[in-house]
Parts: sequence; C-alpha cells; structure tokens
Amino acid sequence: MRTITIRYTAFRGCPNCEGRGDDGASWRPAECRRCKGSGRLVTDVEVEDSVMGVLSRSRYDFNALGEVYLLDFDEDEEFEVVHATPL
Ligand SMILES: [Zn+2]
Repeated sequence: MRTITIRYTAFRGCPNCEGRGDDGASWRPAECRRCKGSGRLVTDVEVEDSVMGVLSRSRYDFNALGEVYLLDFDEDEEFEVVHATPL
C-alpha cells in the first residue's frame, strides 16, 4: 500500500507555556492549549510519498501541532500515514 511518511524536522519551544506543556499551576496544572501539552510547536515537516518521493512544500500543509494536510491528493486513493519521528 502507498505510504505517506511524515518526519518532523524542526520545532520551537511553545511560547505560550515556555515549553512546560501546561500552565504551571502547582495543583492540577492545565494542559497548554496551544501545544496540547507537548511543550513545543512544529515548524518544519518533511513528507515522503512511497510513490512520488519527497513531496515539495507546495503539496502539503501543516500546523504547529504537527497535523499534516495533503493538497491535491486523490481522495479515493488509499494510503497509510506513518509518523517516522515522534511528536
Ligand atoms: Zn504550550
């Protein structure tokens, strides 16, 4: 099956929680809403398609949480998404 491999290649510390991943409360700290608790934001992603090779930046989009959106992809095409690097 066609596979889409996602690699997170660059991060920056979350400025909202300063990398803690939560609001720093001593009792029941709340998860940071911006980074969803990871403490960092994704700033660059590499996407490799088992058919097309490494996709150019114009073929996908991503957000700071590491969600990747493939552009101009045939929706009927079945593929498996592999995260090669942990978020
Ligand atoms: Zn945060």
